Amino acid sequence: MAAAVPRLSSSAAASSSSTLNHPTLRRHKPSSSLPSSLRLPLQSSPCLSHRLTLRSSVPSLRLPCSAAATQVSVFDTDDKPHEQCGVFGIIGDPDAAQMCYLGLHALQHRGQEGAGIVSSDGSALHSVTGLGLVSEVFSDASKLAPLVGSAAIGHNRYSTSGAASALANVQPFVAGYRFGQLAVAHNGNLVNYRSLRHELESKGSIFSTTSDTEVILHLIATSAARPLIARIVEACESLSGAFSLVFLTADKLIAVRDPHGFRPLVMGRRPNGAVVFASETSALDLISAEYVREVNPGEVIAVDVNDMLIATSYLLTRKPRKSCVFEHIYFSSPNSIIFGHPVHASRYNFGAALARESPAPGADIVIPVPDSGLFAALGFAGASGVPFKQGLIRSHYVGRSFIAPNQEERDLAVKLKLAPVEGILAGKSVVVIDDSIVRGTTSSKIVRLIKNEGKAREVHMRIACPPIVGSCYYGVDTPRAEELISNRLGVNELRQEIGCDSLGFLSLESMKGAFGEGRHMLCDACFTRKYPVTAPEPLAAEVGDEAED
Ligand code: SF4
Repeated sequence: MAAAVPRLSSSAAASSSSTLNHPTLRRHKPSSSLPSSLRLPLQSSPCLSHRLTLRSSVPSLRLPCSAAATQVSVFDTDDKPHEQCGVFGIIGDPDAAQMCYLGLHALQHRGQEGAGIVSSDGSALHSVTGLGLVSEVFSDASKLAPLVGSAAIGHNRYSTSGAASALANVQPFVAGYRFGQLAVAHNGNLVNYRSLRHELESKGSIFSTTSDTEVILHLIATSAARPLIARIVEACESLSGAFSLVFLTADKLIAVRDPHGFRPLVMGRRPNGAVVFASETSALDLISAEYVREVNPGEVIAVDVNDMLIATSYLLTRKPRKSCVFEHIYFSSPNSIIFGHPVHASRYNFGAALARESPAPGADIVIPVPDSGLFAALGFAGASGVPFKQGLIRSHYVGRSFIAPNQEERDLAVKLKLAPVEGILAGKSVVVIDDSIVRGTTSSKIVRLIKNEGKAREVHMRIACPPIVGSCYYGVDTPRAEELISNRLGVNELRQEIGCDSLGFLSLESMKGAFGEGRHMLCDACFTRKYPVTAPEPLAAEVGDEAED
């Protein structure tokens, strides 16, 4: 495993001292024009030039068809909520940055728009961030070379707040303030971001990004509390919403989870004693770290690089636990343990419950919509006795976008990603298991694909979660409520719209029942609209609006 990690060369490592003095990537106003009671210059990475090189080295696209050719993102067409972000942190490991790089690979499914690592050499922080996949940002060993030291944090970005394509919004963020340097990586979404930012800006704070995470750094910087842990606790007490955070200073790694525990965060330990924090246990597995436990909701865990002592404290605010059930339905990797439950087992149980609640008498085969429907389809097949088959083959090589000849060819996204296996489907009555339906834009295409090209006789859609009727405010990119198809159509109307022979959803009771006693500790707001934290109305002024001078 270690052989696959880009290693540092000593000469490359020696060049890392240039990491700390790059200009701010982006400001809403020039700093000189503003009174600044607070200055928190977010440092760009040493590879700003690298990023520019990366971008300019991408060959220009030659559109093969007419001027109507369209670049289509597969994210526009897959009808899934999109994952928040992934965070990773490690301390006490001589190969901290390399372990972080591997951890981010294991968390790649949580965000594909950008990635970054910040390391500490014991006295200073070093940062490399960029747009794209982990493998694109860290495309060879030289990209990891500046990241010296025995502690590091990393982040995979999917934008739920802040402009998706802005380099400045790629985390971890690094700030310099009166007590030195501080880096942060955040998974989640702050529902009071606008009001916090408005308040900070009215006191003179200058922001360099449009990300909600930056307010956390400002709150820490403006806190009068001592020492650092107290400042972090005080800042986090002001936050409302979802936050699983890892912070890095010159000598400390700190992990914090919001009092509801919306997003996952786990702790592990490597055989060499290094302490690891990660969004999912799959990241621990990849670096041979043992899963120790979850970071509890509201918990603050600090590890000092000098003695590796672990200090635990809690935020004062206590809330009922409300962990995101969608982590089990769709987001998390099946080989992860999330909120203490193995994800593959949850999905299997969802499918088995679906078979009992919504059987398909006379069906010949059960097939998943790959990949996320796989374990639920196995559960349905196991409980019903209907044979499991791979009737749809997913292409893993489509990439994140493709060129469609014209606007009408957007349907190509489904065909490019999913190919029906006629030899398995032809003449059969088929149960198709999908994890969820959001806008309903792809389900009808999948049904057409199975019927018209796979030549199936009947298609019975079974969905391994309840109808989605609410948007998420806690770090998941869901459409507005009016775009959710289950808000417009009942099950039978939706069946007609999709064009399948029958349609069934897993009930809320059965879904939560799969977690036993843990059923009361789950957020289910996108199925019930019972929001644990009410999203405040946005202020009249949007973030980034400038006041009259
Ligand atoms: Fe998860 Fe839905 Fe709650 Fe958002 S609203 S945290 S997606 S369960």
